[in-house]
Amino acid sequence: MFDVIIVGGGPTGLFLACELRLAGVRPLVLERRAEPDLSDKAHGLAGQVVRLLDNRGLFERCGGRGAPAPAPGLFFGGMPLPLRVLGEENPMYLLPVNQRDLERVLHERAAELGAEVRRGWDVLSFDQTDDRVDVVARGSDGTETTFTARYLVGCDGGRSLIRKRAGIAFSGVSDDNVVDRTALIGPSDRFRFTPGGRVVIDGLGEIPAMFHRTERGVFTLLAHDPERPLVNTAEWEDHPAGDFPGTGAPMTLTEMEESVERVLGVRLPLAPPPEGAPTLLRRLCGRNFRLADRYRAGRVFIAGDAAHVSHGPTLNEALQDAANLAWKLAAALRGWAPEGLLDSYETERRASGERVLMHTRAATALMAPGGDVTALRRLFAELLERAENVHMVAALMAGAAVRHDMGEEHPAAPTGWFVPPVDLTTGDGRTRRLAELLRDARPLLLDLTGGNDLAATAASWSDRVRRVTATADDSPAPALLIRPDGYVAWAGGDPDSLKSALTRWFSPG
Ligand SMILES: Cc1cc2nc3c(=O)[nH]c(=O)nc-3n(C[C@H](O)[C@H](O)[C@H](O)COP(=O)(O)OP(=O)(O)OC[C@H]3O[C@@H](n4cnc5c(N)ncnc54)[C@H](O)[C@@H]3O)c2cc1C
Repeated sequence: MFDVIIVGGGPTGLFLACELRLAGVRPLVLERRAEPDLSDKAHGLAGQVVRLLDNRGLFERCGGRGAPAPAPGLFFGGMPLPLRVLGEENPMYLLPVNQRDLERVLHERAAELGAEVRRGWDVLSFDQTDDRVDVVARGSDGTETTFTARYLVGCDGGRSLIRKRAGIAFSGVSDDNVVDRTALIGPSDRFRFTPGGRVVIDGLGEIPAMFHRTERGVFTLLAHDPERPLVNTAEWEDHPAGDFPGTGAPMTLTEMEESVERVLGVRLPLAPPPEGAPTLLRRLCGRNFRLADRYRAGRVFIAGDAAHVSHGPTLNEALQDAANLAWKLAAALRGWAPEGLLDSYETERRASGERVLMHTRAATALMAPGGDVTALRRLFAELLERAENVHMVAALMAGAAVRHDMGEEHPAAPTGWFVPPVDLTTGDGRTRRLAELLRDARPLLLDLTGGNDLAATAASWSDRVRRVTATADDSPAPALLIRPDGYVAWAGGDPDSLKSALTRWFSPG
């Protein structure tokens, strides 16, 4: 019997497998695809997930350099978000990693940690009893096999079979009237990029290169790679986008040109990328914004796109789901999960999913054509002149806008929030970043008091909670209790309140 069966070997399933292995339990990942998915999806990670990956030593493996640095600026609803004004309070981090590379890194890491990932297994059904879940899957040779585990997690994407079979509704909306088109093109003398993120287009003049909004839609031209710029349009149709003539056929460069012409009002001839360079022609009809009514049904859980889909930083949510769930499942399997710990996965992560649905729908609405939206954007631009509003939007986009219930808030430390970056000198005299102490995904008591009071209290939890003594110039509190998912469960210096927090999260010692 396995500890946990994970259905789906996408980013959520693979990261969950890594987290479970770190927590010492035995997962089995069943993935339908025989080979990795090489289709073009996310081009980067945005938000708190970047720091989560850093905590696990995966930031640099995914192409990041050194330590994550806050992003200087971003867009919300196609409007510039001046993150620089936030200084040290800036919660937004970016990691420009392609989803293919992310999945490769996670797959390699899962293998290093000894997680079993079986490709070519299509999960067909499951049954759960009081103490186990039986999962029926068909292998690539057509034979059906039943696998058994104590828990099942559906990381099987937006159309999740696990969610449907668990009877969990997927509530929300499908905005059928938007169609997004994207193409990689070749260089051209019909447009040239100018300083300040702008582009001059023949016959039109100078416009913002990103999210240029007109009365027909939104236009973006990016030149991350000058040899193959990326062009994107979003158009709002007055009929379901799927009914748009030709949407059943593969997308063409001519279709992209026609879309650009509708949005900009000028014809911009588009050439394919140079021979041998990667190509991309993508049409997405409609946008889905949906959230599962529940994240748990008995021994069955859902995470990632299986639990929420939106037009936004969904990977940020997905990997944070996995980190939140893994240590709680491990605690249940090892017999020290306090009452309600497993249910707190849904309480904490669904609250975050709700916020994502709200802000991604709002961002889409802010880009739509029409005079009312123009007025709304003016108001929004004025609101964004205030740093506190920029912070609110940035925290929403970063998936850092939901405080988890950790009891009373500490006056200076972020209890209930993701731990801030802290530079430390540990007992062995080494200088380290706090992230480097979180690689093993164990609960951590960071003791900066220099005394022994907390050590005596924490001793009874030494099998579950690692205590590290250090000094730091910039710690928000004399000691921090950090959960494996990076959230601060307690802060202070008082042994009695530490004991309560340890008991609450890790059972009596
Ligand atoms: C074009 C595009 C662009 C995107 N851009 C971004 C972006 O910029 N930023 C961002 O954050 N997100 C983006 N996303 C969304 C992002 O790709 C998803 O959020 C992410 O893939 C979710 O990961 P997941 O592991 O939860 O689900 P998936 O990646 O869908 O993985 C689910 C896995 O489960 C497997 N599976 C399904 N059913 C079964 C079954 N019955 N048995 C066995 N295996 C099964 C599937 O084969 C798949 O491998 C984009 C998506 C698309 C399509």
